[in-house]
Amino acid sequence: MKSRISFLLCIVLAVNASGQQVPVKGIPPGYEIRMKRYVDSLRIIDTHEHLLDPEIIKKSFFLDFSLLFQQNGFDDLLSAGMPSSYYDKFFNDSISPLDKWNLIEPYWNNSFNTSFNRIIISSIRSLYGFDDLNASTVGPLSEKIRRVYETDWFNRILKDSCRIDYIIIDGNQLSPKGENILSARRFESWLNVRSKYTIDSIAIMQLDPIYTLEDFVKSLTIDFEKELKDGMSVVKIFSSYYRTLSFEKTETDAARKVFRSLLTGDEDLVISLRDAKPLQDYLMHHLMSLARKYRLPVAIHTGIQAGLGKIIGNSNPELLANLFNDYPDVNFVLYHGSYPFGGELSALAKNHRNVYIDLNWMYSISPTYSERYLNEWLEMVPVSRIMAFGGDCAVAENVYSELKLAKKIIVNVLSDKISEGYFSEAEARNVARMILHDNAARLYNLR
Ligand SMILES: [Zn+2]
Repeated sequence: MKSRISFLLCIVLAVNASGQQVPVKGIPPGYEIRMKRYVDSLRIIDTHEHLLDPEIIKKSFFLDFSLLFQQNGFDDLLSAGMPSSYYDKFFNDSISPLDKWNLIEPYWNNSFNTSFNRIIISSIRSLYGFDDLNASTVGPLSEKIRRVYETDWFNRILKDSCRIDYIIIDGNQLSPKGENILSARRFESWLNVRSKYTIDSIAIMQLDPIYTLEDFVKSLTIDFEKELKDGMSVVKIFSSYYRTLSFEKTETDAARKVFRSLLTGDEDLVISLRDAKPLQDYLMHHLMSLARKYRLPVAIHTGIQAGLGKIIGNSNPELLANLFNDYPDVNFVLYHGSYPFGGELSALAKNHRNVYIDLNWMYSISPTYSERYLNEWLEMVPVSRIMAFGGDCAVAENVYSELKLAKKIIVNVLSDKISEGYFSEAEARNVARMILHDNAARLYNLR
């Protein structure tokens, strides 16, 4: 028996090695192509971007090839050793594209391999028709970028090519506006409060003095309700860039003690994170009660943080489990596939029915991780709680390239699941439509 199995295995391996598609019993050939066509035909809801308004880009010093390095690419140049002081020269000074290239070339040569930087290469190849980034291409590429930004390039990429219906933007006054653009809002001033200055600034901004903890809590409610009126679609928690995601339930007296120490301190008093934590945690729980009252989803940055020197242990989604239990009516969206905590995220999303997995940014962090964990999450988590696209980009070109990569990975995963008999073709199509559109439409109340 054993030798017969080995013999059959050899035949299968031989067919695979010859590069031909192995016919799968009961499945009509060509399912990968059909899956690709179906995914390409879908309308997309993009759950997370930091896009810059193209009108702002047109007036900036980075309307050249450096545009494509906004955020991710620049971070990997830093990771490759580039001094952070180059930021201003690269983005904010009027120097020629060739001078910019000379600044970054040694660091590009040491980091061209990363998927952040492959996204840039993909953008210049697919959208601008240049093969590579080097001293001879940066000039003509920059000229082409300047020309296309005279047209409706932004909408042509996002609406026409990417077929994106809605975009949720975590932004500021530099972000584009429009009826298809929804906003995520942060409440950092409260969640990261460590200084008397922060409290005074809020009081001045709201023209309402803050003397007590109750006044301070009220100021958060006022700001939340104002953002709600202005169209906030989701609350964004960004805290893991500064502190742990562990938000303990804190007694009012403990929060009041911290608040008083700030209010009675010197003008320039800044207390340690450890001392500020009871007050920050208390305010986080108040924010969650507001999200519950107004039925707003809460999106949380989990996993790897952008930039250098951050503490990855602060962003482990396991730290949030008490919030999932304490606020069962609040829908929590865990961003970035919690890289590298994909296994922890599987278990959390399976066991807490108010936890959504959002794969935004994940494809450009690591395509391999994305494919591995999308596979696993489809085996572990109800599909209605998986959302599969957001670029987390500053510019439309990189959204285009990341979406192209995301679709390739989704088609690979679903084709494998069809070939294994895990999903029928009809089920796989259903999954693709749910994770790229329908789930986000339902969660964020979109058409
Ligand atoms: Zn982001």
